[in-house]
Amino acid sequence: MTQKRILIATTNKGKMEDIREIFKDLNLKILSLLDFDNYPEVIEDAGTFEANAIKKAKAAYDLFKLPVIADDSGLSVEQLDGAPGVISARYTGENATDEQNNKKLIAELEKFSEPYLAKYICIAVYYDGNNLKIVNGDCKGRIIRQGRGTNGFGYDPYFIPDGYELTMGELSLQEKNKISHRLKAFEQLKEILINL
Ligand code: IMP
Repeated sequence: MTQKRILIATTNKGKMEDIREIFKDLNLKILSLLDFDNYPEVIEDAGTFEANAIKKAKAAYDLFKLPVIADDSGLSVEQLDGAPGVISARYTGENATDEQNNKKLIAELEKFSEPYLAKYICIAVYYDGNNLKIVNGDCKGRIIRQGRGTNGFGYDPYFIPDGYELTMGELSLQEKNKISHRLKAFEQLKEILINL
């Protein structure tokens, strides 16, 4: 029997590694956009994580006519009414660096008192031209004023997950992937794929 193919609408190799690990016992051929010469560049301007993820999934489906999974994620801080939220990657503008974004985050929090309650959010969608399934995962924690650690990416040096003393930047990738927002969302997708 030929293996069913599924396309993950991302070019992020780190994300692909995580997803391949989560889906490893499914009998699926897992592709990413990097397996194609010509893939859609989707502008993530839809205003919500969910709408961005759906936009990415549909753009990839329209082009390749394969079942697609897409996700969108970010950081939400309670004192900042959910910011940086959907613009987490672009908090200080287009082509923002993690360092610039983190600096702005800490500056914005200066007028509030700790703890700075926060969570990472991941919305993931499955779309095959017919079924549209949407799941979400989160990872709760707090932001600290002095970053620590060089693992991970984005806001990780400033984020301590609940139940830990180390930042995400200090945890190993394996440890992070056991508790991450992405893992929680993709494990739900795995159940959906098994039952489709
Ligand atoms: P995307 O879903 O890959 O587009 O992620 C959007 C942005 O959210 C990233 O550029 C980071 O700023 C932030 N983000 C998402 N997931 C994480 C994470 O696991 N650690 C740190 N930052 C994250």
